[in-house]
Amino acid sequence: MNLMTLRLEEIPVRHIKGVSARREEELHAFGIRTVAELLEHFPFRYEDYRVRDPEEVGDGEKATIRGRIAAPPVVQRYGGKTRMTCRVAAGRMLVTAVWFNRHFLKDQLTPGRDITLTGKWDRRRRQITVAESEFPDRGAVKTGTLQPVYSVGGGITQNWMRKTIAQALLQFGHLVPEVLPPGLIERRGLMPRREAMMRIHAPGSEEEGAAARRRMAYEELFLFQLKLQAFRAHTRRKRDGIAHRVDSESIRAFAAGLPFELTEGQKKAVNEILRDMRQPYCMNRLLQGDVGSGKTVVAAIALYAAVKSGHQGALMAPTEILAEQHLRTLEKLLGPHGIQVALLTGSLTERQRRDVLAGLQMGVIDVVVGTHALIQDDVQFRSLSLVVTDEQHRFGVEQRSILRRKGIRPDVLTMTATPIPRTLAITAFGDMDVSTLRERPKGRVPVKTYWVRPGMMERVLGFIRREVAAGRQAYVICPLIEESDKLDVENVIDLHRRMVEAFPDFKVGLLHGRLSAAEKDAVMRAFSSGETQVLVATTVVEVGVDVPNASLMVVMDADRFGLSQLHQLRGRVGRGTHASYCVLIADPKSEAGLERMRIMTETDDGFEVSRRDLELRGPGDFFGTKQSGLPDFKVADLTTDFALLEMARDDAADLVSREAFWRDPACARLRELLTRDPVFQGEQLD
Ligand code: ADP
Ligand code: MG
Repeated sequence: MNLMTLRLEEIPVRHIKGVSARREEELHAFGIRTVAELLEHFPFRYEDYRVRDPEEVGDGEKATIRGRIAAPPVVQRYGGKTRMTCRVAAGRMLVTAVWFNRHFLKDQLTPGRDITLTGKWDRRRRQITVAESEFPDRGAVKTGTLQPVYSVGGGITQNWMRKTIAQALLQFGHLVPEVLPPGLIERRGLMPRREAMMRIHAPGSEEEGAAARRRMAYEELFLFQLKLQAFRAHTRRKRDGIAHRVDSESIRAFAAGLPFELTEGQKKAVNEILRDMRQPYCMNRLLQGDVGSGKTVVAAIALYAAVKSGHQGALMAPTEILAEQHLRTLEKLLGPHGIQVALLTGSLTERQRRDVLAGLQMGVIDVVVGTHALIQDDVQFRSLSLVVTDEQHRFGVEQRSILRRKGIRPDVLTMTATPIPRTLAITAFGDMDVSTLRERPKGRVPVKTYWVRPGMMERVLGFIRREVAAGRQAYVICPLIEESDKLDVENVIDLHRRMVEAFPDFKVGLLHGRLSAAEKDAVMRAFSSGETQVLVATTVVEVGVDVPNASLMVVMDADRFGLSQLHQLRGRVGRGTHASYCVLIADPKSEAGLERMRIMTETDDGFEVSRRDLELRGPGDFFGTKQSGLPDFKVADLTTDFALLEMARDDAADLVSREAFWRDPACARLRELLTRDPVFQGEQLD
């Protein structure tokens, strides 16, 4: 092997002394095949074997003490077990060391010999229950150090892992390469990579371990951000998108024709979107805003601009109910301008579908609304230039390549249902430009939220009655984990029956996932038009449904919902000018459940809700089971490494914005790392 070109990621672990074929197999189970992968199996904490004075060890603490054996040990036997005690002089204190079932050590405990003991300290008895001991005359290895603790299992023990990683560092440590640009290491005061790799596995002090960890966490975040930022910069440099030709005058005229004035946030977002659309690169923008902040009209203006420029637009919705609602909204907003809007969902008849497909291909249809099958398979556009989509089916590599195969490079606008905490936004959406709607339209009254126990149901019914009598409408939501769960469907049907009985003089609708698309549509229309006053539903109404006259949201078993879901549900009311209310009925059994109810009643601000949601759940669970786009970081922690993350993002963006990055040989290794990533699909990076 040529040592000069040897790369740790190409050296199999069996080249490490002491790694047998069997151990190699066992390491594979951990996903560790190469020396590089072994060295990146970082410890998740350290065990402290630094010698302490027993005077200073607190009762019950685990500590290491040093002493000299003062008397021969005494072994007691009971029921097949043994308890061995031995007097040890530690400083000025005489200590009793206790071993359980370790009597085989007896012969080594000779009076006068030095020993180090690690174990749990009983302060009153001056007694240590020994977990491990070492003799300095035999070269104590652990004593005085911080020992790394790794995740281990199978046939691999903690000690074997420690020994093997130490051996790997000894044999191959000199081959650990630097991957960060030298300027960055200096500017950010980071530990060089080789040193960090040594220190993270064997720190001389807590500070050293922390500095090594910080360096590795930064690197992890930086490389991830570099990918996102490079992708963003690369897309812009390519200039192979559609440069829309929209004149500001027609946009102003369109806005003037709306039944309301755009908020400042909406105006700013529209300008940012139009600026991107006019450029010859592909827009990749996220529109984020709280529920009810008015994202749809912003999307409508973008679609209008696409059509005005002679192209077509598509809007992808997460559910059919929403697709149909968007169709109605867009027909209302765009129809008067002579724009043809059509619906394409799974529930069209074969004939209707054929007509829509033909219309899109010929360009008779300007804007199509549908679920995510929209851009797939047999759908051909005359000239698709803008795709508006929601966060749930964010445009990934796959969709981009579907479109590219069709020869289309449209602008993409992604809308989020709820605000996303900054850390997660930077990570999950870091490759996008972001427009944020902070305020809600003028005249909105915050939704008042109450949390009541199930025993208060009678009063809740009275509340519903009062609102409906005043001309308003109410939702009653029944939790449902799985649309396919028969039991849950029975629950919602049962709840509907109870509501019908409670309100013989009102019309009560019923909506759940088991209804056919046509049935759902009929139920929604009836509620939208005010024909039904109360709608009993599952979370199919969670996202996006817009009925401004509804002023009361009642959520049954509210503790079964997550925070962002509750906030989404609450967002169904307070969309008009009427005072609105959200009543959460719950008897939470867990502290987290209680906390969710507290947060909901304390704040109506989605940005605040999501921040506290992240605190409560941690980044892994924040996006729930939906594809999160969050990578599994080995060292970095998105809940605590916020400053490091922002630093890494800024540095990565700064680096790729320089022309040199794309050519400089010093950055070749970084560029190579990028081309291996699926988002680039082997694209040429210079
Ligand atoms: P979301 O951001 O939750 O998707 P929508 O786009 O559904 O919000 O808008 C919520 C409601 O607010 C809709 O009824 C919409 O017509 C209305 N709306 C949007 N923008 C404004 C505005 N600037 N002034 C008044 N009402 C608005
Ligand atoms: Mg919406």
